[in-house]
Amino acid sequence: METTLKLNKQDLGPAAHFLAKPQKLLINGEFVDAVSGKTFETTNPATGEKLADIPLGDEEDINKAVDAARKAFDEGPWPKMTPSERQRILYKIGDLIMENRDELAYLESLDNGKPYKIAKAADIPLTADLFHYMAGWSRTLEGSVVPVSDIAVPGAEFHAYTVREPVGVVGLITPWNYPLLIAAGWQMAGVLAAGNTIVLKPSEVTLLTILRFAELAREAGVPEGVINIVPGFGAGAGTTLTSHDQVDKIGFTGSVRTGRSILHTVADGNLKKVTLELGGKSPNIILADADLEQAIPGAAMGIFFNHGECCCAGSRLLVHKSVYDKVLDGLQREAEKIKLGPGQDDGTDMGPVVNQKQEDVVMGYINSGQDEGASLVIGGHKVGDQGHFIQPTIFADVNHDMKIVQEEIFGPVLTVQPFDSMEEVVKVANDTVYGLGAGIWTTNLGNAHHLAKAVRAGTIFVNCYNVFDAAMPFGGYRMSGWGRNRGKEAFEAFTETKAVYAKLN
Ligand code: NDP
Repeated sequence: METTLKLNKQDLGPAAHFLAKPQKLLINGEFVDAVSGKTFETTNPATGEKLADIPLGDEEDINKAVDAARKAFDEGPWPKMTPSERQRILYKIGDLIMENRDELAYLESLDNGKPYKIAKAADIPLTADLFHYMAGWSRTLEGSVVPVSDIAVPGAEFHAYTVREPVGVVGLITPWNYPLLIAAGWQMAGVLAAGNTIVLKPSEVTLLTILRFAELAREAGVPEGVINIVPGFGAGAGTTLTSHDQVDKIGFTGSVRTGRSILHTVADGNLKKVTLELGGKSPNIILADADLEQAIPGAAMGIFFNHGECCCAGSRLLVHKSVYDKVLDGLQREAEKIKLGPGQDDGTDMGPVVNQKQEDVVMGYINSGQDEGASLVIGGHKVGDQGHFIQPTIFADVNHDMKIVQEEIFGPVLTVQPFDSMEEVVKVANDTVYGLGAGIWTTNLGNAHHLAKAVRAGTIFVNCYNVFDAAMPFGGYRMSGWGRNRGKEAFEAFTETKAVYAKLN
C-alpha cells in the first residue's frame, strides 16, 4: 500500500480543448456569464491545481433560468412535441455522449479525481445508456380507460380515462460523486422524456462534464429554455431554486442534511413535489456458504470503488463467524493491491477524495474509530503532501454503536463485524437510519432470497455489488430518500395523472 506518491504536473489530455474555453452558464439556450460577473475556481483534487474559472450563479441567474424554463414549458415546443421527435433528440444526446466519451471521461477524472478508465467504462456509457433508455419512455406517456359506476350520478354513463402529463418546471440539485451520471443520466434523462423543462444546479465542486454536456444537448437539438444549467452554491443558487414558486418539482440527490433543509423550504413555500436520493450505510453480508473467491474481492470493490464516494457503498461488512478470519485476511490482501494515484494514470485503481473538506470528514471518522477503540486492520493514513489521497482503510473489533458503523463516511473506510445467525444478521443489517443498498454473498438460493426479503433497502445485490442498469429503479427506504431514480419509476415520478370524466347521457 502506498505511503508516498510522486505526482507530475497535470496533463489535460483530451480535455484540453474544452478547458481552454471560457466556461459559461446555460440559460434560455445561450451560453452566458453570471449576472454578477463573479467566478470561482474548480481544482484538480490530485494536485490542487486550478482547472477552470466557473461563473458563479446566484439568485438573479436562477430567476432568469426559471423564467426561461417556465416559458419553454408553457409556450415552447418541448412538451407539445410529438413523442417520436422527443425520442429522437434524447437518443441523439446519448449518441453524442458516446462520441465524446474520451473527453468527458477525462474531464470527469480531472475534476472529481476518479480513475479515467473507470469514468470511461462506467460513468460515461451509463449516462449515454440512460438517454437511450429514457428516449423510449418518451413514447409511453399513457393513461388508461377506466370503467366507472353511477353511484355519484345515478343513471349516468361515462367515458372515463386518465392522462399522464409532465409535472412542469423541474429544479434539479446534484452532488459531486458521479457528476455527469447523476445530473444528466439519473436525473435529466427521465425528466426530459416526460416533457418537462429543467433548471439544474450541479454541485459547485465538480462541474466540467455537465457544462460540456450543455453543449452536446444543444447540438442534439434540445430547444431553448428546456435545459438551463446554473452552477452556484447551495446557499444562494440552491435555496433560490427550492423556494421558487414557479418551480413545480425538485429532484435532489445529496446528503440527508440538505434533503431535510429542502423539505423545510418547500413546506414553507409552494409545496412543490420533491424526490430525494440521500445517504446510506449499506450492509454487505457474507454467509458461511459464500464462495469466498468471489465474495472477498466483491466486498473490497463494494467499498473501495470510486474511493468509497458511492451513496450505496457496502461500508458495513457483516461476516459469518466461521469465515471471519479468512475474510479479514483476504480483504487485507485486496486493500494492499489497490494502487493510489492521479485518476489520469493507467495504473491507478483509486484516486484522491474530492476535496479538502471531504478529506477532513474521512480522516475525522478514521480518528473517531481509533478513539472509540476499533482496531485498524490496514490503512488509516493520508498519503503524500499534495492532493487528497487516503489509504483504503479497514476497521475490525467494532461495535454497533460506534460512529464509524452508524454514520455515512463517504470515503474508503470499511468496518467488519462477525455474526452468528440469520436472525442476528438481519437485525444488525437493518439497524441504521438508512436503507439504500445491501449485498448478500451466498451459494444457497434459499438464504439469498430470505435475506433479499428481510433486509430493508432499495437495492439488493446478490453475489455482486455496485451493479446499475438504466431500467432498474434506484432509491432508498427510511432516511435514504423519497422516490426512485432510473427505470419506469423515475419517468413516472416527473408526471402528473389527470382523471377525465365525460358524461355520455
Ligand atoms: P450535499 O447535500 O452537501 O450537496 C448536494 C447538493 O445540494 C449540492 O449541489 C449542494 O450545493 C446543494 N445544496 C447544499 N445546501 C443546499 C440547500 N440548503 N438548498 C439547496 N441546495 C443545497 O451532498 P454532497 O454534494 O456532499 O454529496 C454527498 C451526499 O450525496 C452523500 O450523503 C451521498 O450519500 C449522497 N448521494 C446519494 C445518492 C443516492 O442516489 N441516494 C447518490 C449520490 C450521492 P453545494 O455543492 O454548493 O454545497
